Amino acid sequence: MMRLAHANVERLTYLTTWVGGDRSFWTHDPDRRLRPDVRAGLSAATGVPEGAIDALTLKRFEGTLFPALAPRATIRWLMPLGKGSGYRHGRAGLAFCPGCLSEDQHLRQEWRLSFVTCCPRHVTALLDSCPSCGSAYAPLSNDLGRGRAWLGERELPFAWCPECGHDLRRSPTGEVAPELSRFQATLLAALEDDAMEWPGAGEVPALEGFDVLHQLLAVLRLPEAQRGVVAASDLTGPARMPGRRNGSFEDWALADRRLLLVQLAWLLGEWPHRFLGLMRLQGVTRRPLVYNMSPIPPWYDVVAEQVSQRNGKRPRPVVTLAPHLSLPAMQARRDAADTELERRRWDILCRLAQTPDVVEVARHVGVSDQTVRALLRRYNDLGPGAMVRANRGRAEPGRRLLQPEQEAELQAWLAQGRVSNAELADWMEARCGRRPNATSLWTYRRGCGVHSREGRRVGGSSGSTKRLGNGGIPATACPTLEDVDSAGMLDGGQV
Ligand SMILES: [Zn+2]
Ligand SMILES: [Zn+2]
Repeated sequence: MMRLAHANVERLTYLTTWVGGDRSFWTHDPDRRLRPDVRAGLSAATGVPEGAIDALTLKRFEGTLFPALAPRATIRWLMPLGKGSGYRHGRAGLAFCPGCLSEDQHLRQEWRLSFVTCCPRHVTALLDSCPSCGSAYAPLSNDLGRGRAWLGERELPFAWCPECGHDLRRSPTGEVAPELSRFQATLLAALEDDAMEWPGAGEVPALEGFDVLHQLLAVLRLPEAQRGVVAASDLTGPARMPGRRNGSFEDWALADRRLLLVQLAWLLGEWPHRFLGLMRLQGVTRRPLVYNMSPIPPWYDVVAEQVSQRNGKRPRPVVTLAPHLSLPAMQARRDAADTELERRRWDILCRLAQTPDVVEVARHVGVSDQTVRALLRRYNDLGPGAMVRANRGRAEPGRRLLQPEQEAELQAWLAQGRVSNAELADWMEARCGRRPNATSLWTYRRGCGVHSREGRRVGGSSGSTKRLGNGGIPATACPTLEDVDSAGMLDGGQV
């Protein structure tokens, strides 16, 4: 609208009144919502398709940054326009980059977003007010109200302070911490991809990621959390709280938002261990972590669950997976596993990487806590290789005393009637040349693989009975979870 008014040597108010049919254009935030008749009028007057005009509003962030673009309500991540006295007073709802204003006269949609505090192109800090007089950046008030008239100006008056006439392109800009510009770049990329890479949780929907980040910024506002972060990280915190008691991240001044975002990026490191450790140390309960969140993304809920409740319930310990492999590498191993058992082990480890809570993972997978804990210990101590072998409790074909046909013959003989241990030993020695000990006799008489708890249970169902041709006993294709557990296949380090 500003560009159009300027190109047509027309007062901005005149143009908006003419297009909209009344003077209400500036009473709502026009970046949020364009009335359909205004949009149609603009399209008719300019020949620009309505869809292209819509794309100039903040609508494109709907569903990725915030759920819906309400015309009036406060929206997380969106800086509200301070509309007092023709947008000149009150809080600045729009930031700018002096470098960008020098190069081309465009106002960027991202400059309305609260997490955008530095320029991705110039890697300098954004400003949101005039360095000379301190009034909020509001280029439209150059024409609305008492600002400088646009008529007769050669350039678009985006770069002048409407209050004091200072050329904003010559504003000094500050350096930006590399971690801040990196963090901002990942957030902007999440908006583009509609998916956010969350440490330890893989890719999460952008909307959920931004929801949790905004919540964590609210947590950082708690004095105890702020004290803890400053003490643990050496990062500076905001100098003072914003005025509004129930304010949100958008209520902080631009410089303070920058400090908070650096703290947030730090807090996400080693997720969720650093975060949980800090919350516990500072005695932050679960409530502020999920306060007003609806819905709570499940991958965040399991983390918040681990902070003590107000009812005094003790939080569950967080376990740490040794950094042998990254989560994608572990997922690849899980998908490429040769056996069901190996796949299941990797599945448990992948879950532990995302939810460092033994009880939670055990409940999900349907095995005991001890099994998960033992698997974790085994993985941490022995490394990824230990997930493939670990076949304690299973027969190894090469170690059997008898050939499969001989075993079948033995079973047929045993089925005919009572055979003493001595007779059995003689029979076996004649065939394999070794006199079997008592354990071997026991296992061959039962027709099971090994002398283990699994073996002792033979008579029910077991994987090994099928191989031995013990007819009539149904054998399952893969061990049940109970088998996996009770055979100790997941635990211990011994073969
Ligand atoms: Zn710039
Ligand atoms: Zn000024």
